[in-house]
Amino acid sequence: MIFNCLTIFPEMFAGFTGTSLCEKAIQKGLIEVNPVNFRDYTEDRHNRVDAYPFGGGAGMLLAPQPLFSCFEALDRKYEGKKTHSVYMSPAGQVLTQQKAADLAGYEVLNVLCGHYEGVDQRVLDHLIDEEISIGDYVLTGGELPAMVLIDCVMRYIPGVLSNGDSLAEESFSGGLLEYPQYTRPASFRGMDVPEILLSGHHKNIAAWQRERALAKTLACRPELLEQAELTAEDRKILEHLKKQP
Ligand code: SAM
Repeated sequence: MIFNCLTIFPEMFAGFTGTSLCEKAIQKGLIEVNPVNFRDYTEDRHNRVDAYPFGGGAGMLLAPQPLFSCFEALDRKYEGKKTHSVYMSPAGQVLTQQKAADLAGYEVLNVLCGHYEGVDQRVLDHLIDEEISIGDYVLTGGELPAMVLIDCVMRYIPGVLSNGDSLAEESFSGGLLEYPQYTRPASFRGMDVPEILLSGHHKNIAAWQRERALAKTLACRPELLEQAELTAEDRKILEHLKKQP
């Protein structure tokens, strides 16, 4: 999958693309992350990409010309590929695990990173398929949100995660938060790992993990339970958990 990040700060992506899972996925040829500096497309003689908003208002806006030229160049380069274009924006739908899974179905994802006060509306109307937010707060630019999005989406590309199971068991898969996990040693400074995890009894362990996932979701994000895939047994467990002090 190809991620094109349209940005005026391409250098911000170096740490992300050169580290950990992202670096490995690039090395294996599973993904490409291309920071594309749309300043290279400006026709302004002072190399500007921003201008004052009509009607007043604080700050500057990214102007349409460099962005239209940049998107048109990308369209020509990736003609025929299944492409989707998103604008990272605090006004967008908040990113979810399901959205990330859906976006992984495209061959090319163009990710526009805004700056200053945002982007001329004509860019959004004509070049962008959807706006995506990473949460209800405002950041200085769209680069960090773009990296959040790419990190989340690339985990759905086959081969990026070495253990195929980990996606299925992670928080939000199936609508629940992940159960608590422990590693060696079994006892640390008087704090013991729950005995059941040392029992080797896979069925009981799975039941314990399910119960703990339900308990954690109920305690931390109870609203997720409304949309979660729950069995009759899960509902019984939840009723029991709710009665506990
Ligand atoms: N004036 C804009 C508003 O009120 O919606 C905020 C602009 S913000 C300072 C600059 C850029 O950061 C935005 O164009 C967007 O690309 C990015 N950005 C800021 N917060 C974000 C968020 N929560 N999710 C995604 N992108 C965000």
